[in-house]
Amino acid sequence: MASTYAGALVAVRDVESLRRRIQAWRREGRSVALVPTMGALHKGHMTLMDRAQKMADRVVATIFVNPKQFGPKEDFTAYPRREHDDFEMLNTGGVHLLFAPDVAAMYPNGFATGVSVAGISEQLDGAHRPGHFDGVATVVTKLLLQVLPDIALFGEKDYQQLMVIRRLVSDLNIPVDIIGVPTVRETDGLAMSSRNAYLTPEERAQAPALYKIITTAAAAIAAGGDIAQATMAARADLLAAGFASVDYVEVRHGETLAPLTVRVTPARLLAAAHMGRTRLIDNVAI
Ligand code: AMP
Repeated sequence: MASTYAGALVAVRDVESLRRRIQAWRREGRSVALVPTMGALHKGHMTLMDRAQKMADRVVATIFVNPKQFGPKEDFTAYPRREHDDFEMLNTGGVHLLFAPDVAAMYPNGFATGVSVAGISEQLDGAHRPGHFDGVATVVTKLLLQVLPDIALFGEKDYQQLMVIRRLVSDLNIPVDIIGVPTVRETDGLAMSSRNAYLTPEERAQAPALYKIITTAAAAIAAGGDIAQATMAARADLLAAGFASVDYVEVRHGETLAPLTVRVTPARLLAAAHMGRTRLIDNVAI
């Protein structure tokens, strides 16, 4: 079932149509990039699409708001869905194929398999959102096997997710190169995110403090400052800047995400905090 829209982008909703189109490209010898998303696309997503186009002959974007990665009290129902606008953006952006399955196509009756990446999934966001990374690992494994791309691109905005996916692909010998793309920000520093749409104007004005505060902490640590002191100060600064609560501000190894008490290379500072009803995450290299 292929929808017809103006432009070169084709949208499919079932795995069979997806595979048929990709197999045709493979017969022509084309390389394929995959960019998974949950839609409500913004410039951050489109930067992944641009990068994908530079690296492969054909780009497959997916839009799927994956129920398995939302907790029972999280925003699955409220998550913004703007498929028409998304289609226009992808079409204008030169993406070749959109795979936008519904929940029944991804998880038909009787679906019983889950993918879980131990250790790295259980900390940071995993500790605050139990089951989240199992949902991510399961859907990303499915998408990789459905598309069988040469490369798949993920944003550093979701840094822990990127590391979970690298581990998963390595552990399961999935033959794909995972490409991490630096975080795209608004001019005031706020990391672009579909969830920024939840912010009231007042919260939106306060939200860039997250990036400013973690950048300041990272600079202090890079200059030889104490990690515990810098992260404690960052927590206090976040609360003073209008965040209602802080889930974590942590310095971790840049690949394994193991906790660090002294600075190593690579190191990453990661944070999650609540602005009103919106949970914001961000991270920077140290
Ligand atoms: P999402 O639709 O939020 O699941 O994001 C889909 C992909 O886009 C993920 O790999 C994200 O890490 C990436 N992404 C989201 N926001 C940004 C951003 N501001 N900069 C770079 N990548 C992003």
